[in-house]
Amino acid sequence: MPELPEVEITARRLSAGAAGGEIESALAPGMVAMKTFDPPLDALAGRTIERVRRIGKMLAIDAGDLTLLIHLMSAGRLQLFDKRASLRDKSSRVLLRLPGDRELRLREFGTQQRAWAKLLHTDAVADDEAVATLGPDALPAPPPDEFAALLDQPRHLHPLLRDQRTIAGIGRSWVDEILWTARLSPFQRASDLEADEVERLRAACEQRLGGALAHYEEVIGPAVPDKLPMPLQVHRRAGEPCPRCGTRIEAVHFKDYVMCYCPQEQTSGRVLKDRRLSKLLR
Ligand SMILES: [Zn+2]
Repeated sequence: MPELPEVEITARRLSAGAAGGEIESALAPGMVAMKTFDPPLDALAGRTIERVRRIGKMLAIDAGDLTLLIHLMSAGRLQLFDKRASLRDKSSRVLLRLPGDRELRLREFGTQQRAWAKLLHTDAVADDEAVATLGPDALPAPPPDEFAALLDQPRHLHPLLRDQRTIAGIGRSWVDEILWTARLSPFQRASDLEADEVERLRAACEQRLGGALAHYEEVIGPAVPDKLPMPLQVHRRAGEPCPRCGTRIEAVHFKDYVMCYCPQEQTSGRVLKDRRLSKLLR
């Protein structure tokens, strides 16, 4: 799933490419992705795209007094194309047609249809449930006192950092990277952290999310590719040596994601039980 750095670079590139374009027509093939019906999607026709911005892990296309709020979920992509999609293209979810055959297109890969869009009055975006419930953005990281207060919860770090209501923008990929950078266990209880550990975690958020964004600014051209070259060091690298200490990176498999960590530096040498294996052994 695209997280803060991936969604931010997408917003920046789309804003540069689409701002100023007048929407000729707006369509949602099949309508499954649209979660609102009033105002209707074709109310965007005739309006000019002012900008594309990021809100947490969502994208917002501002056009006049309307905003199309989009959540890509795990397999959605919002991209600008020079040619319009065939209406038979089954991956199309929402199409904003721009002058000169160009098209801003929300596509979704795979069989699941989970990406969604809502057309809202711009001044109502902040009150929408998906936006109103977001915690502060993870980049720049909240000031030290605020960050410490957010973490003062008796929950494990891994789920807590991914909880958008606590802090917005971090998902399953970057949480592994941030915890590894801060040398903290994914199962560390957040409220038990020492002050220096909280500061390490805050610095790791800045360093890894900011570093990823700087990397994308460097390597991503005007068109954002389907797959971004994520600068990951431990996530999806189980079995490889830790880039810092050489210890084998271990993984815990959950139903729909994998948690990766360095046992030497994050869990006092302990290899955590793999949920997938323990299920088989039970
Ligand atoms: Zn290590």
